[in-house]
Amino acid sequence: MKIYFLPKDKVKLLVESVLDEFQVFGAKAKEMKFEFGKIDTAAELRLDYNTTILPPVKTFFPNDEKILEFKPNGQTTSVHENSKKVLFGVHPCDIHAIEMMDNIFSTPPEDKHYLERRKDSIIIGINCNTPCSDKILCYDKGTYKADSGFDLMFWDNGESYLVEVVTSLGNFLASKFSYFFNFFTEYSGDFHEFKSEYHKRQDFVFEKKLTRKISELPEAMRQSYESELWHEVGAKCLSCGSCNIVCPTCYCFDVKDVVDIDLAGGHRCRNWDSCQNLDFACVGSGENFREKSSQRNRHRVFKKEVYLPQNKGYSGCVGCGRCNTACIAGISLIDIYNNVFSEEV
Ligand code: SF4
Ligand code: SF4
Repeated sequence: MKIYFLPKDKVKLLVESVLDEFQVFGAKAKEMKFEFGKIDTAAELRLDYNTTILPPVKTFFPNDEKILEFKPNGQTTSVHENSKKVLFGVHPCDIHAIEMMDNIFSTPPEDKHYLERRKDSIIIGINCNTPCSDKILCYDKGTYKADSGFDLMFWDNGESYLVEVVTSLGNFLASKFSYFFNFFTEYSGDFHEFKSEYHKRQDFVFEKKLTRKISELPEAMRQSYESELWHEVGAKCLSCGSCNIVCPTCYCFDVKDVVDIDLAGGHRCRNWDSCQNLDFACVGSGENFREKSSQRNRHRVFKKEVYLPQNKGYSGCVGCGRCNTACIAGISLIDIYNNVFSEEV
């Protein structure tokens, strides 16, 4: 592991040099909010953002993605996109989400479309000095910091950043910068001491939102299966699916074939889907296994906090708070979890 020192007023120059060689994705202003998307100029990139509407991981799993082309004679061609990308300024919770999606999409049968986009991509993380909003639960989840899942990590050091390099890809990029730019220099201080002080400051400003430990949640959730709580949540929910669409760890999709208007061919595309849609669990015979909104809401939360921990050993929620912000009905995971905790016998 190497640590570099980068004055903040040189970040723009650094981004320009990355833009010369790579497609760069990062946070940029969108009216009063931030979106995560392709950056064309260094001035567009914002490292001082709170959270983005859609998460960085959707760069590798876009909506309305063309995955196959076909001809009337049955000939098919798989469509892959594999340009090298740099995701610049990814927050720790979103780094956790990317690690989780890497695991999901590389579990057989592998999702080649995600993996092709993801391959050789460089993740440049940036730590959070302060919480993004009051809707997050990353402190309870432990996802407000990340020890892996990135190539470089920026640590705020006042007038400068310390840049932690942990992978060979990160090292390749950092060595290049330190060779070409004399402002990207090796840090000579005690990084462990710096990190420990940084996390102590985070402990001071980040807040616990849950009344009990997150490790107790799966069991509490299991006990809540027949709870009235799900009917209350279901009665409020409008089944709009926004909570799924903005979530960095939701990965359900639908596939459809689109035939060209001249019948000369067509393509297959996939679109994000939502388990909150009425017909999500509807099968060919017309049976709908989760016809009620209460069942769909319970399923969304159980998938994240019971089924994934049971089957994969990790929670399917990184606590980014996007679903809590997006829900026009005011449904909040923080309230749901605390209600589940208060009901447990
Ligand atoms: S469930 Fe909500 S808080 Fe958890 S990762 Fe998804 S959007 Fe973020
Ligand atoms: S965003 Fe809110 S209203 Fe929309 S489906 Fe999700 S929980 Fe229901």
